[in-house]
Amino acid sequence: MVLQKTIHEKLSELASNLWWSWQPDVSALFREIDPKRWSELSHNPIVLLREYGPDELEVRARELVLHSRINATYRRWQEYMKSTDTWGDTHAGVLGHRPVAYFSAEFGIHESLRIYSGGLGILSGDHLKSASDLGVPLVGVGLFYRKGYFTQQVNQDGWQQEEYSLADPADLPLTEVTTPDGTPLLISVDTRTGQIFARVWQVECGRVPLYLLDTDVEQNSEEDRQLTAQLYGGNQRTRIRQELLLGVGGVRALAALGIHPRVIHMNEGHSAFASLEVIRMRMHDDGLGFEDALRETTAMGTFTTHTPVPAGHDRFDGGLMEEHLGPLREALGLDYEGFLGLGRVDPHNYSETFCMTVLAFKTTRRANAVSNLHGVISRRMWQHLWPYRSEEEIPIGHITNGVHVPTWLAQQMRVLYDRVLPANWHLRSGEPEVWKGFEDVPSLEVWETHQSLKNRLIVYARYRLTRQAERYGASEEAKAELQQVLDPQHLLIGFARRFAPYKRADLVMRDIDTLLNIVNDSKHPVQFIFAGKAHPADDMGKQIMQRIVQMSREKQFNGRIVFLEDYDINLGRHLVQGVDVWLNNPRRPLEASGTSGQKVVLNGGLNLSVLDGWWAEAFDGKNGFAIGDGLIHANQEVQDQRDADDLLRVLQEEVIPLYYTRNQDDLPLEWIERMKRAVRTLGWRFNADRMVMDYLNASYVPAAGSTSCEMRIIP
Ligand SMILES: *Cc1c(COP(=O)(O)O)cnc(C)c1O
Repeated sequence: MVLQKTIHEKLSELASNLWWSWQPDVSALFREIDPKRWSELSHNPIVLLREYGPDELEVRARELVLHSRINATYRRWQEYMKSTDTWGDTHAGVLGHRPVAYFSAEFGIHESLRIYSGGLGILSGDHLKSASDLGVPLVGVGLFYRKGYFTQQVNQDGWQQEEYSLADPADLPLTEVTTPDGTPLLISVDTRTGQIFARVWQVECGRVPLYLLDTDVEQNSEEDRQLTAQLYGGNQRTRIRQELLLGVGGVRALAALGIHPRVIHMNEGHSAFASLEVIRMRMHDDGLGFEDALRETTAMGTFTTHTPVPAGHDRFDGGLMEEHLGPLREALGLDYEGFLGLGRVDPHNYSETFCMTVLAFKTTRRANAVSNLHGVISRRMWQHLWPYRSEEEIPIGHITNGVHVPTWLAQQMRVLYDRVLPANWHLRSGEPEVWKGFEDVPSLEVWETHQSLKNRLIVYARYRLTRQAERYGASEEAKAELQQVLDPQHLLIGFARRFAPYKRADLVMRDIDTLLNIVNDSKHPVQFIFAGKAHPADDMGKQIMQRIVQMSREKQFNGRIVFLEDYDINLGRHLVQGVDVWLNNPRRPLEASGTSGQKVVLNGGLNLSVLDGWWAEAFDGKNGFAIGDGLIHANQEVQDQRDADDLLRVLQEEVIPLYYTRNQDDLPLEWIERMKRAVRTLGWRFNADRMVMDYLNASYVPAAGSTSCEMRIIP
C-alpha cells in the first residue's frame, strides 16, 4: 500500500529544492498560506512551514482550497526532476555522466539564501537555473557565508550603515554532506601555518546540486571558524584563504563526493586555485609529470573573466602565496619563482604580484569575456600574455550574459507570453522565432499589464519608504504623505546597482537646474527610484549614495526622487518588473555586461543606457534609448560631462515626448511599439538559456572532447 503524503510533507519537499523559487505559482502557494509571515520571513518557506503542524496546515489548505494546486505542483516538480528528454540529453552527451563543475565565489539564487552581493552572484544563480532547466549536467561549487553580504540602512545623514546577521543552516535548504558511514564530511587544505577544515552543505537547485564549503567547524581555530562568515569581508589574508578554500577545497570536496568533473568552469578568477589542485591530483593519481598534468588540466578548463576594472582582479604577494600555497607548490615540484610565474604576465618579472586572473588564463584553454565589447577590451587588456600574437588573435572570446527568464519575468507578463508565444516557448526561449508572436499582443493589453505591474511597484515602494521613515520616528502625517508619493500616470525611471564610482549613479544630477525642470514639469513630470549598495570599504561610492539620498529628501523635488534601502533580489524583482525606463550610465567601457536591463526588457520596460556592455550590441535604434555615441574621450572629466549632457538631452528630446504622446484612448502607441520591439528583438538573445547553450557548444563540449582548438569568437 502506498501511503499518501500529507500536504505538509509535499510542501516541505518543495521547499527543500530551490526549484520553487522560479515557479511563481509555487511562491504564490506559500504566500497564500500566510501573507504576513511570508513577507516578514523574507520569503523563506522552510521557516514558514515550521510554524505549522501537519494537521494545522491541512486545515489551512482546506480553508484556502489549495489541495488540488499543491498536488498538481508537486506532480509537476517530480516530472521535472525525472524527465529524460531535455535539451541537454540531446546536446550534452559527450559529457557522459561526468558533469561540468562550475566554481563561483557567490551564488544569487533567492533572497532567502544570502550568499551573493550583486551581478556576479545573480549570474551564477541564473546559470545554475538554466543548466537545470536545459538538463545540462552541472554542479556548482561555492562558499557558505553565514553572515552573507550586509543588509543596508541609510542613516539621517544619508550615510550607509552595514549590518550582518547570522543565518542558521537549519532555516535554509541546506543538507550537510556526509560520508558513507553517516559522519559529516570534513575536507581540509594545508597551509604553512596549519590546516583549514571545512564541512560541505548541499543545496538543490532544480536538477543541479550546489556544494557550499563552510569553515565553521570545531576543528578550526576561532579565527578560521569565521573565515567563510562574510562575503568580500576581511583583508587580503582573508581573501586568499577564502579563495584557497573555494578552489583547492572545492576540488577536494568534489573528489570526496566521488564527482569527477569532465569540465572545470571558473566563473571569475576567485576560484583559479582549482586548476592547481586538479594538476596535483593528476600527478598523484595518474603519475603524470607537471607539464603533462598542466596540459590535460588546461584542456578541460574554461574561464570567464568579468571585469575590465584593474582593481577587480585579485593579486597576492609572494609571502601570502607561500604561506598558503607552499605545500601545494612542493607537491607540484615547482620552485618558488617558477610557481609565482603562473600568476604573472611575465614569469620572470619578479616584481609582479600573483594575479588570479593570469593564473586562470594560463590554466584554461578556453576563456571568454561577457559581452562583445568586453571581449575587445579583454583582448587588449591581456594582450601581453600572448606576446607573439596580434590583438585579434588573443584567445579570449565572448559569451554575452543573459538572465533566467522564469526568475525575472512577472507572472502577469508571463500570462501574455503564454497566450501569444508557441506553447512550449519556455523550453525554446533561446530561439528568435519563438518571440515573434509578441508583436501580436494588442497594444492596450501590453499597456494595461505594464501599468498594473507599475502600480504594484509603487505600492511596494511606498511600503518600503514608510518602513524606512518609521525608523526615524516619522509622524503619522509624514507617513500619510509617503502613501502619496509616485504617481502611476507619470513617467517612472529606475536606477539600481552597486554604487561603484564608475557606474556614476549621480550623473543625472550634474546639472541640478535642468533636472529640477524635468522632474517638476507641470504637464510631463518625471520620477526616479534609486537603490543600491556601496561596498563597505568604498567611501567614494558611499558619498555618491549620500548625495542621492540627500537630494531625495529635498522639498524642491516634491518626492519625485526616492531612494529605497537594501537592494537585493526581492527589491530587484519589483523594480525590473515595474519601471517604465531603466537607466544605466556607466563610464564606458567599464561595464563588462550588466544584466539588470535584460530583466527589464522581459517585463516591457525600456532601457536608457550608455552604449556599454550588453547594450552596445543590443540597441538597434528602436528597442530602447542610447546615451552617447559609443565614443570614449581620453579625458575622463570631459567624458563624464559629455555623457551627462547627452543623458539630459535624450530624456528631454526623446524619452519624455515619446512617453507623453498619447492617442485618444490615452495610449502612448509609439512607446508601446518600442516595448514590443524590445521583447521581440532582445528576449531570445539576452536570456540565460541561450547563454548556457553557448557555453555548452563553444566551451564545455570542446573541453570534454579535449579537442585542441581554442574557443572561437562568437560573432
Ligand atoms: C540583476 C541584479 C544585479 C546585476 O545588475 P547590473 O546590471 O550588473 O547592475 C545586481 N543586483 C541585483 C539584486 C540584481 O537583481
